[in-house]
Amino acid sequence: MASIRELHQQLVEKERSAVELATETLERIEALEPQLHSFLHITADLALEQARRVDAKLAAGEAIELLEGIPIAIKDNLCTRGLPTTCASRILENYVPPYNATVIDKLHAAGAVIVGKTNLDEFAMGSSTENSAFGHTANPWDTTRVPGGSSGGSAAAVAARECVVSLGSDTGGSIRQPASFCGVVGLKPTYGLVSRYGLVAYASSLDQIGPFGRTVDDTALLLEAIAGYDPKDSTSLKTEVPSYSKFIQPNLKSKGRLRVGVIQETFGKGLDPEVETAVKSAVETLQELGAEVQVVSCPTFRYGLPTYYILAPSEASSNLARYDGVKYGMRVDDAEDLVEMYSKTRARGFGPEVKRRIVIGTYALSAGYYDAYYLKAQKVRTLICQDFQKAFAQVDVLVTPTAPTTAFKAGEKTDDPLSMYLSDLMTIPVNLAGLPAVSMPCGFDSQGLPIGVQLIGNILQEARLLEVANAYEKATDWTQRHPKI
Ligand code: GLN
Repeated sequence: MASIRELHQQLVEKERSAVELATETLERIEALEPQLHSFLHITADLALEQARRVDAKLAAGEAIELLEGIPIAIKDNLCTRGLPTTCASRILENYVPPYNATVIDKLHAAGAVIVGKTNLDEFAMGSSTENSAFGHTANPWDTTRVPGGSSGGSAAAVAARECVVSLGSDTGGSIRQPASFCGVVGLKPTYGLVSRYGLVAYASSLDQIGPFGRTVDDTALLLEAIAGYDPKDSTSLKTEVPSYSKFIQPNLKSKGRLRVGVIQETFGKGLDPEVETAVKSAVETLQELGAEVQVVSCPTFRYGLPTYYILAPSEASSNLARYDGVKYGMRVDDAEDLVEMYSKTRARGFGPEVKRRIVIGTYALSAGYYDAYYLKAQKVRTLICQDFQKAFAQVDVLVTPTAPTTAFKAGEKTDDPLSMYLSDLMTIPVNLAGLPAVSMPCGFDSQGLPIGVQLIGNILQEARLLEVANAYEKATDWTQRHPKI
């Protein structure tokens, strides 16, 4: 499947209609889903209706925008009016929201064609999509392996060409780590750039919605469509949204010198040697393209993981208190009284990882432990932000591997939550500091699995990040390779 610009050209030149494009996409989804299970719901009727609208415009001789008629998939923790939004949880199995997330309204306004809602780890808690209550998603490069998580369905769908682009959410790495495992581009925007209204909350001070694409340009175009101030999200930033795709220049020197910092703490013990080699060679390519490379140190980076696993569960324990069988979703009725109804509903509705986090978070917030855990973690969070700012005083863009390994086998880490958590070692500090970061393919390991490199920018430096990512993409051919599925 082609890029957004190529498809746009085909639509405008009437080489194919939007309905044909939607139909082909839906057929591909139907053919691949038995192997992949990227989707929880396929929205064929909606997709065809949206595509017909685009064709009507074209037939009337009206101009269409770039995203009009483009098939897109949506992570199933984004509220879609009239369509199921389950968060891959039993507790929301039958939930159909009466409203759209702001990003969904924006996509409708842009004319994108929504083909379905994608699988995820329950409430976006996990790194492999194995915590979904509705079955696993397979990695299109090797179906015995996980696609990463929690936005595993969105990453797998883009990699397998079941859609052109997709939306995910990223609280500690849930866009970037699956992008890395599936060999696609994934971007976590600056906290506040994209409205969180209608994103089912996991850890509100960390959550961001972001795009997946097979190329940097596709990813930039989708970011442009969803970014911007929204009065319905109190943490939304009042900022102009630049035209990211126009910023992209293949020559890195076009806007003065580019200083790239390699974070030394992300290399060494625990890092797969093949990942290390590929990321180091990506840094050399950036150097050949004109970047000045230096090694920088972020000593507090290693406290990111423990800090996150206090703060994120604390916020989750509070956010998930609303699922009590009264207002939304599932309710267990065979209870003597209200308290028993609450506890039976929550006991049956939530899966084990969600329960684990609610327990950890409740403990960390309890009166006797609040200062020792939650308050301390907040202080460490500030130190991590300061370390990043020191690094950005010296360089424009930071580079790390996205994940310590390539995609692991399904079932390999399900009994060991700690080793699962380690998957997000390099992505989590970025959320704690609210920074933008992109993961893009930078090679393959000896088993043919994609490797991802992470580029981190300072607050609201998405345009710069995408420019660097684009220059790297044009100098290599990694984003041209697709799984043979
Ligand atoms: N894998 C991390 C977690 O389990 C991050 C998840 C996310 O970004 N939503 O919490």
